[in-house]
Amino acid sequence: MSRIAVIGAGIAGLTVAAELAAAGHAVTVFEKSRGPGGRCATRRSAAGPFDHGAPGFEAVTAAFAEQVQDWQRAGWVGADAAAGASRLIGVPSMNALAQQLASHLPPGASLRVETHVAAIEHGAPAGWRLRLLDGQLNAGHFDAVAVAVPAEQAAALLAPDASLAEAMRVTRSDPCWTVMAAWSDAWAAPGGSWTAPDPTGVLDRVHRDDARTGRVALDGIASRWVLHATPQWSADHLGAAPAEVIAALTAVLAKSLGVHLAPPVHAAAHCWRYAQVPDARGEPCGWNASLQLGACGDAWHGAGDVAGSRPDGVERAWLSARALARQMALSLTPD
Ligand SMILES: Cc1cc2nc3c(=O)[nH]c(=O)nc-3n(C[C@H](O)[C@H](O)[C@H](O)COP(=O)(O)OP(=O)(O)OC[C@H]3O[C@@H](n4cnc5c(N)ncnc54)[C@H](O)[C@@H]3O)c2cc1C
Repeated sequence: MSRIAVIGAGIAGLTVAAELAAAGHAVTVFEKSRGPGGRCATRRSAAGPFDHGAPGFEAVTAAFAEQVQDWQRAGWVGADAAAGASRLIGVPSMNALAQQLASHLPPGASLRVETHVAAIEHGAPAGWRLRLLDGQLNAGHFDAVAVAVPAEQAAALLAPDASLAEAMRVTRSDPCWTVMAAWSDAWAAPGGSWTAPDPTGVLDRVHRDDARTGRVALDGIASRWVLHATPQWSADHLGAAPAEVIAALTAVLAKSLGVHLAPPVHAAAHCWRYAQVPDARGEPCGWNASLQLGACGDAWHGAGDVAGSRPDGVERAWLSARALARQMALSLTPD
């Protein structure tokens, strides 16, 4: 049995952990946040929950479509009726999928939240050790490490392998300013999700969160909306104040829909510094067998270029994690 550290409890990290634990390895997942999910995220508020990260996802490869069917049967994901049958969402919230994956990890895998890994260090013969943000070394030794975090953050962690680190350093993620807003009065607007008809290049995508499958309605809240700014506008306004972003995005929403909007009863903004990867690497994942060090996540294609398919972020995260788990299993010693 090998001891494996997985860094990051998004879809990629939880998938690689589940596969390796099922193959008989002892796996510890380290997550810096309070819970799993990463960019499949849900923000709780007094106005109700907002899916403020990935609004949904699709399955373009046969392998992921098969996996999604299992998740649908389990009730962890469902079709987003408002966006079309092929668009999938976590139920009852986007972070539910990761929460379910985490609570169904096979025996042999465990999740440590609120544990920020700052660096990984290799020393023969004991293997890998993790240095935490407070400078302390984690007590455990590991035979192998899988890094499952956004490319820019992976680059620093992968420093022991210069070529893996460089592959992540040159992979770019676009930022995304996101506004979560709720109104108490009903106003006429298209339901569901849509790409904003905004010629000014501010607003990218919009979805009405409370109208989606399995979402809760709160007394006094007529509707909850999530507004995503375009990558370019987000990049140009990285240092903006949340109030400025809320004002800009809600004004563009009102103008592009031709409606008058009263001030929202709740509004918050979040800047995703690394939201989506426009050009993922062509390889399924990264793996250095001699160092026993790997990388997966949406920076990687996951399936390789299968018949020119272009899986999106959530699907690439899952595909690349599965590819990495299979590569790792070939060179690790199970029970
Ligand atoms: C606004 C927005 C819109 C999106 N739209 C779509 C869409 O329409 N369709 C689609 O398919 N995808 C979309 N995505 C992308 C999708 O969410 C991601 O591609 C996918 O969730 C990536 O999963 P992951 O496991 O690779 O990484 P993540 O979900 O980022 O998980 C990485 C985890 O690692 C943790 N972590 C990071 N560094 C450390 C560290 N040093 N130590 C410990 N833990 C660490 C993080 O806290 C996080 O939980 C969107 C994302 C955003 C933000």
